[in-house]
Amino acid sequence: MIVWNHFPQGEHRTQCPICQRRDKSLGVSVFSHESAVAHCFRCGYVETRRPQRELTPAEREAYKRRMDAMRQQHDAEQRERQAAAASIAAVRWAAAKPVQAHPYLERKAVMAHGLRLEGDMLLIPLRDSAGTLMSLQTIAADGTKRFVPGGRTRGCYHAIGRPAGRLVVAEGYATGATIHEDTGQAVAVAFNAGNLLPVAQALRGKYPGMELVIAADDDWQTDGNPGLTAARKAAQEVGALLAVPDFAGLDRGPKDSDFNDLRRLAQKEAAV
Ligand SMILES: [Zn+2]
Repeated sequence: MIVWNHFPQGEHRTQCPICQRRDKSLGVSVFSHESAVAHCFRCGYVETRRPQRELTPAEREAYKRRMDAMRQQHDAEQRERQAAAASIAAVRWAAAKPVQAHPYLERKAVMAHGLRLEGDMLLIPLRDSAGTLMSLQTIAADGTKRFVPGGRTRGCYHAIGRPAGRLVVAEGYATGATIHEDTGQAVAVAFNAGNLLPVAQALRGKYPGMELVIAADDDWQTDGNPGLTAARKAAQEVGALLAVPDFAGLDRGPKDSDFNDLRRLAQKEAAV
């Protein structure tokens, strides 16, 4: 993926070809014309360039030392960025107002559970399992969602309700709010499919004896069904139950994938 010849010997920073963040998250260290390593401190992508021949033991040792140093430097940078983002999140959260109403909540027909308002944007806090605010998700009136740039999301979640024996992990806020409102169960919102497993692991560590349920988004029209695949994997890894929305008998559209969509369709059906 990386065109090594673009980089002379030395240290470089550039855009990552995998996650393609706009910031220069890819560190490239070129040791010689035949030996180099690149590492993205955002997505963790690593690519190396090694000589065709066997490395000598000394070369191998030097290579490993450089890799370790580079990883440490990138990890330190990431922690710094996350700390800065957490400070920004705390200031914005403290200044935000209570939610009276919001177009997104109206459209999804869910209530505000622990949310705040910043101008016309909904703020949803992301906390680690110790309860420390790490980032915010903003939802604009048109439904556009963003996180605080550089903030940590991995393993962080938004908690709705207090767990009593059982805890449900869902992808999005509207889905989680729907599940909480309809079942009374406590819910952790993981924000995206890729974060289901890290959140489930964090919750398993915090609540060893808790019954965990992973509520899947069934992305039935997307190749590989990323929502269901990630939910199944998370459930298997932490010993959780898996809940999948059952659209049988409903007039399901291509974008109907989650428990909020299911509720909307079921209510429509009941009203006919
Ligand atoms: Zn990347």
